[in-house]
Amino acid sequence: MVNSLLSDASQRLEEALKHTSISEDAIESLKFPKASLSVSIPVRMDDGSLQVFQGYRVRYDDTRGPGKGGVRYHPNVSMDEVQSLAFWMTFKCAALGLPFGGAKGGITVNPKLLSRLELERLSRGYIDAIADFIGTDVDILAPDVYTNSMIMGWMMDQYSIIRRCICPAVVTGKPISMGGSLGREAATALGAFFVIQAMLPKFDQTPQGTTVAIQGFGNAGGTLAELLFHAGYRVVAVSDSQGAIYAKNGLDIPAIRNNKESTRGIRAPYCDGSVCTTPEHEVLTNEELLALDVDVLIPAALENQITETNAHSIKAKLVFEVANGPITSAADKILAEKGIYVFPDILVNAGGVTVSYFEWVQNRSGLYWTLDEVNQKLKSRIVEEADRIWSVSREIGIPLRTAAYVHAISRLGEAISAKGTRD
Ligand code: GLU
Repeated sequence: MVNSLLSDASQRLEEALKHTSISEDAIESLKFPKASLSVSIPVRMDDGSLQVFQGYRVRYDDTRGPGKGGVRYHPNVSMDEVQSLAFWMTFKCAALGLPFGGAKGGITVNPKLLSRLELERLSRGYIDAIADFIGTDVDILAPDVYTNSMIMGWMMDQYSIIRRCICPAVVTGKPISMGGSLGREAATALGAFFVIQAMLPKFDQTPQGTTVAIQGFGNAGGTLAELLFHAGYRVVAVSDSQGAIYAKNGLDIPAIRNNKESTRGIRAPYCDGSVCTTPEHEVLTNEELLALDVDVLIPAALENQITETNAHSIKAKLVFEVANGPITSAADKILAEKGIYVFPDILVNAGGVTVSYFEWVQNRSGLYWTLDEVNQKLKSRIVEEADRIWSVSREIGIPLRTAAYVHAISRLGEAISAKGTRD
């Protein structure tokens, strides 16, 4: 393996390979990304100056179908990170049985520092740079960290201009008015919610008797917090990039979301009209949130949050990974020794890409589904795959993450072998 993040990610593959019997050829071909593109994107800024941004798109594997994966805008985006994320997408799509391979993209940028027009020029410039590398049947984009439906709309429009077609299926997570699917926005959180609801009874946990801490309050973490709150769970701590808040009897999540959406931040007073109250809560660091003595811990921010340095301090009984790659492979071992169950990212956060698949199907068929149809189909698929992964884990006696990889590899290995070789 060529680099650190990807080599850490691929340790999961090595671990799972001990429990599967796929061909040497299949193993070899899963070790490296199929294609990696690095581009420079010149953008005319509002002050007239020209700034050049670095962008990436990686197709890790497309044996089971076109590449699929989001585009991340973040100052720390690098080729290494994008390759790792594309690797995870490959196994996520296979674990859920979606007819896609894995891909990912990103731009090294702090989008909060760009005006809306600069952001639009950057997004369209990215598509200009990668248009020959993607396509409806080749590689399909979607939102990820700090990208959203508005950006997906610009990307789809730019691709359509270049190809002289209306090509909605090249991007998922679009605005509904441009062919987006109902339910896509909340899908990552709703998928995680369905997995949590299906798995907690195995540990004799009821919603009312379960305390939850969530790291990250973006689209995934914030929406999931609200779903859990309304289902009766006691969400005692949440955090954003500025820090965390904790209240032992539970936080008023709808009020906090309201604050977050109006960019007041999670620590602002709760306001109803002109009446504002400051509820009692303790301010914690993100580190302290991770170490809380709760039933369920949900990392829903970025990768590498639980490492060998802080894994010993984790006290939660169950961890559900909503972020991609929040736990390193070294930390995984420590959590397993402590008897902590980790439900892996490639299952827990797969609701997003599952509804992306539904969006792609709707775009290609021209027939659009109701919100109820989307959510029902999401629920039955993700709960069914969660049950299978749970069974694999019990039958072989391996951690849930390894079981998810074993489950995914059986589908991937079969496809790689069926394709054969050309030599
Ligand atoms: N960015 C999301 C993920 O990491 C969604 C990808 C997609 O919908 O293609 O799973």
